[in-house]
Amino acid sequence: MLKELWNQAEERLKQTMPSSGQIWLKNAHYSGEKGNTLILSFTSSYYLDSFKRHCLDQSQHVLEDLSGEDIRINLIIDNNAKPEEEKEEVKITHLSEKKKAVNETLNRDYTFDNFIVGENNLFACNVAKVISTNPGTSFNPCLIYGGVGLGKTHLIQAIGNFIYDHNPKMKVIYVTAETFTNELIQAIGTKAGNAKFKNKYRTADVLLIDDIHFIADKESTQEEIFHTFNDLTERNKQIVFTCDRPITELRGVNERLITRFRKGVNVDLQPPQYETRMAIAIKKCKDLNFRIKQDVLEYICMNIKSNVRDLEGALTTLYSFSELVGREITKEIAAEHIKNFIPTEMIKNTEVTIDQIIAESASYFNVSTFDIRGKSRNKNVSLARHIAMYLSSNMTNLSLTEIGKYFDSKDHTTVSYAINKIKSIEESDESIKKATETIVNNLKKQ
Ligand code: ADP
Ligand code: MG
Repeated sequence: MLKELWNQAEERLKQTMPSSGQIWLKNAHYSGEKGNTLILSFTSSYYLDSFKRHCLDQSQHVLEDLSGEDIRINLIIDNNAKPEEEKEEVKITHLSEKKKAVNETLNRDYTFDNFIVGENNLFACNVAKVISTNPGTSFNPCLIYGGVGLGKTHLIQAIGNFIYDHNPKMKVIYVTAETFTNELIQAIGTKAGNAKFKNKYRTADVLLIDDIHFIADKESTQEEIFHTFNDLTERNKQIVFTCDRPITELRGVNERLITRFRKGVNVDLQPPQYETRMAIAIKKCKDLNFRIKQDVLEYICMNIKSNVRDLEGALTTLYSFSELVGREITKEIAAEHIKNFIPTEMIKNTEVTIDQIIAESASYFNVSTFDIRGKSRNKNVSLARHIAMYLSSNMTNLSLTEIGKYFDSKDHTTVSYAINKIKSIEESDESIKKATETIVNNLKKQ
């Protein structure tokens, strides 16, 4: 009966949701139900994530409002998902069976074929390809690190997909560190559960663990990963990890595990250069069948610099806007929309120097510029330093390497980490938002 309820909910959501949110709604397809759980499917993780971000809470409220009951929503990826009218009703059992026949842990959208290679990711991509063609023999273990939205999940999944396609007998498991932790917590309760858990991961030929930074301060998970790690590498099974920062910046992780991570190859993903951003954007538009003028596309790629996810997000939002409103995207419309993807107002055509940014950041946090440029790990100084790096990337034309040179022994990976860190918390953390805004305003006054 949830099907009818979902139809009603969709109608109501269409009326209340901003136009930019509606594209995500359009891509959610009723796929089945189980008790009070409604199953919605999506053709890609991109649509699923976007729905989760923009529509899930609201959908939940509307469903509960309409039914007066607690309704759970389960989101799944079904590569064959089509609008509901066009396909026969799919029962959840069919879906899960079909997924199992493939590899339920892999997302087939993430392949090497659709991973655009630029200077920023060439080395990481080549290492990933070598691993894929000869798993367990070289570059084992491998750690891919880089900031949010730079393609870590895409690349680690591409390894999984390649091996799965070329060595169907190999057991490939992709798991996020978060899921690994949750499964471990559930398994610990019983002896049988524990054995099943160990058996699952220690029989892998290729184990791909995404977002390993999640295990910071989680001792049992670290312990289990350590043993799984030893067990697999001793038998030349391939392990690949991703992390949002260089291993040297990882805190709250056991030293012996860090030593293991260090033993293998560590490769980083940098924010893409302009040309790579353009190539990604052109491909994305092609996938969406989105016609957009060259100069508008150039404008978008000039402005969204640090993160491929934001670039994709901006293009999809503009696409949905043009579809829903039936208007061609102009530079003005693009400028209005991409504001959401550039949290701190960028100052254009203004001569702001990195020295001024460092001075303003120091003054705001009441620390010395000497400390900001130095190596102090004091919390306040680190925060001031990270904000100064972030603003320098937004407000000057300096590359990450050039910015790094203004800080003692800070190479471009540390700068990239700082930028992504501030960017990811700026919206949700009022104190950071206030800090960046005040510093920017003070700079403007100069
Ligand atoms: P991360 O895991 O590092 O946060 P993701 O792998 O989820 O980032 O990438 C975010 C989005 O950007 C995904 O949709 C991914 O397909 C896309 N993406 C990132 N890098 C590239 C690239 N080089 N070529 C094509 N798409 C990319
Ligand atoms: Mg990821």
